[in-house]
Amino acid sequence: MSSAEEQPRLTSADPVERIAGLFATQGADEYLGEPVTQAAHMLQAAHRAELDGADGALVAAALLHDVGHFTGTVSGQDLMRGTDNRHSHTGADWLAQWFGPEVTEPVRLHVAAKRYLCAVEPGYADTLSPASVYTLGVQGGPMRGSELAEFTASPYAQAACRLRRWDDAAKDPAARPPPFDHFRELLAGLVRYPRRRLTRLPPADPARGR
Ligand code: FE
Repeated sequence: MSSAEEQPRLTSADPVERIAGLFATQGADEYLGEPVTQAAHMLQAAHRAELDGADGALVAAALLHDVGHFTGTVSGQDLMRGTDNRHSHTGADWLAQWFGPEVTEPVRLHVAAKRYLCAVEPGYADTLSPASVYTLGVQGGPMRGSELAEFTASPYAQAACRLRRWDDAAKDPAARPPPFDHFRELLAGLVRYPRRRLTRLPPADPARGR
């Protein structure tokens, strides 16, 4: 087999372009009862992470934390109607096609982090917006019992709590975060693999020559 035949070929579109496309289209939707769009909310969260000195992977996680509202089969609107769309999990699973756990797991845990902080931090729940309080109930309410230890056992629990605070604060209609293009290079540098979407080039057909 020649080296060309051994090379896997990526069949999906470039991940950064796909994500940019989602920001440019569904990102214009209202962010679930908040006075900002989905894209503005995620850009604000990433900008706050940057200003807070987060590493690149966590800035990317903040930027992408709600991508599950775009990619899941149950929408964010369904969440606001009382059906948990589990967007943290659908988003993390979708991102795992390309990104490692340092990006995907804070995304996966950002709803759990809200439930955790409501359980352990006096006054935290009072800082949540009315929409976030509403979705807290749909998402299971404050953590109880063994859930707390399970959450803190994750190596990404602390990162998820940091992300959660940027998420909670990223609902300011007056904020002017940088545009998506500001984060393109960061995202491209974090793409680890074209996983699950690999295909092999077809073997050369000896009957047809090369
Ligand atoms: Fe969010």
